[in-house]
Amino acid sequence: MLDNLTNRLAQVVKTLRGQARLTEDNIADMLREVRMALLEADVALPVVKDLMVRIKEKALGQEVVGSLTPGQALVGVVQQELALIMGGSQASLNFATQPPAIILMAGLQGAGKTTTVGKLAKYLKEKQRKKVLTVSCDVYRPAAIAQLQAVSAQAGAEFFPSSADQKPVDIALAAIDYAKRHYLDVLLVDTAGRITIDEQMMDEIRQLHAAIKPIETLFVVDAMLGQDAVNTARAFNEALPLTGVVLTKLDGDSRGGAALSVRHVTGAPIKFTGVGEKLGGLDEFHPERMASRILG
Ligand code: GDP
Repeated sequence: MLDNLTNRLAQVVKTLRGQARLTEDNIADMLREVRMALLEADVALPVVKDLMVRIKEKALGQEVVGSLTPGQALVGVVQQELALIMGGSQASLNFATQPPAIILMAGLQGAGKTTTVGKLAKYLKEKQRKKVLTVSCDVYRPAAIAQLQAVSAQAGAEFFPSSADQKPVDIALAAIDYAKRHYLDVLLVDTAGRITIDEQMMDEIRQLHAAIKPIETLFVVDAMLGQDAVNTARAFNEALPLTGVVLTKLDGDSRGGAALSVRHVTGAPIKFTGVGEKLGGLDEFHPERMASRILG
């Protein structure tokens, strides 16, 4: 775990050698570097501030045990705290319901919802041997329905057709009925997104949620959004009882700071991360690995 430090942090770690206890003085430089690392990883400022308070509280007065240097001890505290804020351990999908387990996908347009439905369908089919049905409630973009049909075929999942002249709630209820009659395990419900948050979209997804009562409501968010991820996350969290987050596009330059911010704002665990456009690019989320990535 300590191997992943940036050179910068490693330098400060060295300067702290030979001190037996973490004190306000000897960790000040180190904390400054941690703060910089968090900001550079695009963690939102209020989240960084909150984190720094917690890290400092936890670190002060800690004895340095064994062969660790104080710097290493502090890095340990930082990593632990980051992982803890992101949920501590890996969170899985909840299937404790009568089939089909309904999974509702929410997020802005372009966040990666449709791609993630394809990835999830493949994951559930191959890793968990589930029979999966997908449906699109995006009645505004016929291309989105066709896109979902294509990724579902690629993933080997069944696709429930819908069209632009239908109502989202009617589409979803018909899909649930179909899934029940065909003994399918999981129904993945793709939804419309807008470029920016608007009330009409939020109302629509709220109504959809109330009608279908999903066991999982996953907020899909683009990791490249960085600081902006916070506002989007807040709006979706106010509209819907989110049960989890999928952080997409982690293959880009993003250091993943959005993971911390989104978790902090919503309180919902990040369940998966998406990398690349191929359907194999979905990973279970591991807080401690993300902590290392964020620290650089
Ligand atoms: P939606 O509007 O939320 O349904 O988003 P889409 O699934 O259509 O994705 C928008 C764009 O992002 C598409 O070009 C996808 O191929 C791409 N995309 C989705 N997820 C990822 C990812 O994890 N990594 C990368 N690099 N691209 C992604």
